[in-house]
Amino acid sequence: MTGSAAQPVREVVDLSHPLDDDTPVYPGDPVARFTPAATVAADGYNVLHVRMGSQTGTHVDAPYHFLDDGARIDELPLEYFLGPAVVADVRGKPPHGRIEWADLQPCAHLLTPGRILLLRTGWDEHWGTDAYFDHPYLTGDAAARVVAAGVRTVGLDALSLDETIVGGTPADGFAAHLEVLGAGGVIVENLRNLGAVPQVDPVVSVLPLRLAGADGAPVRAVAFGLGR
Ligand SMILES: [Zn+2]
Repeated sequence: MTGSAAQPVREVVDLSHPLDDDTPVYPGDPVARFTPAATVAADGYNVLHVRMGSQTGTHVDAPYHFLDDGARIDELPLEYFLGPAVVADVRGKPPHGRIEWADLQPCAHLLTPGRILLLRTGWDEHWGTDAYFDHPYLTGDAAARVVAAGVRTVGLDALSLDETIVGGTPADGFAAHLEVLGAGGVIVENLRNLGAVPQVDPVVSVLPLRLAGADGAPVRAVAFGLGR
């Protein structure tokens, strides 16, 4: 038998938040509740009853999230959820700060078809606090240029790709969502730990649960490197 040496997976890092009853959700979304359905003491085995919205915790949005005729989460090419990543360092934005196309210039040459763009806002440090809802967001113009470059997967370490206004609607609406999802792409929200993504040739996996016909689904997001 011949063949090249196996490429070992290295530096696997977890980009997912834990899911529990304290998981912050988008204003108005169902809260997550996890309760024992069976226990070793009573039944001889443990089973958890899981109740949550499709957009809870670290998750992916399908085009159907905003577009009735858009693809559902189980209809998308799996390639959208697994591939080479580029991390754009956009930390330092103020609350409700705008992430513009100019902010993405340092990595613009890496924005090509098949690439997964991850926006590192640093806002994951506010997870579980009120400040988490005041996250920066991608402008519709920047989202349109990312999509024009051929990127179909955009993720970030914050609650939403568009601005969040608790008890209201954002001034710019859902422009970034509509650009990415309107191009048939997907959005990954509530990522964490993007500073730990391997520097050299990082690969990211955000494979969602195969929820039939759903607008989105939770994921266990990870990054890793390939080779030595
Ligand atoms: Zn979402």
